[in-house]
Amino acid sequence: MEAGEGVTDEAIADVKNAITLWNQENLDKTDCNAANGANARVPNAPCLDLITSGGIADVVIKMKVDNGPILGLTSLETISPSSCELKSVSIQIRGEALGLNFSNVHIINVTLHELGHAFGLGHTDNQNDPMYLSADILDTCYPVKDPNCIITPFTEVDDIAMNAIYNAGSCIF
Ligand SMILES: [Zn+2]
Repeated sequence: MEAGEGVTDEAIADVKNAITLWNQENLDKTDCNAANGANARVPNAPCLDLITSGGIADVVIKMKVDNGPILGLTSLETISPSSCELKSVSIQIRGEALGLNFSNVHIINVTLHELGHAFGLGHTDNQNDPMYLSADILDTCYPVKDPNCIITPFTEVDDIAMNAIYNAGSCIF
C-alpha cells in the first residue's frame, strides 16, 4: 500500500479492512498463513498478504487525495498478451474518499470492487453486488457518512465467477 499526502489513518485502516474481508469472504481465513476454513467459498482464490517491508508487492494499492471523478481504478499486466497469468496489478483508490467525509463503508466497498477487477471479475447490474457497474464512481454510500450504508459482501454471482476462474480452469495457467 502507498498512501499519498493527506490520506487519513482511518482511510488506510478501511483499505486494510477490505483486504482482510477479501480473505475472509473468499477463503474463510483472516491471513494467508492460516489454513483455508471449512466454509471457503473460492478455495483457490488469491490470498492477500500485506507487505510492510522489502520488495515490491504483486498488487500495489495506491491511495491518493484529489477531486477526480474516479474513485477506484485498476490496471493489470499479464505475463504475455495471450496469458491470463498476472504479472502485476496496480489499484488506485483516490478522490475525496481518502481525505474527507466519505464513509468507511464506502472506502471498503470501493476497495473490494477494485480487488474484484484485479482478480478477474467484471461488472454486474445488481446494485447489491460489490461489482455493480457504477461502484467505481459512486454508490449508495456516496458521499456522506450514511448510517444505513452497509458493506456489500460478495454474492453468489461473484462466487460462480471466481470459482470459474480459480477452480474450474477457465483461465489455464
Ligand atoms: Zn468497476
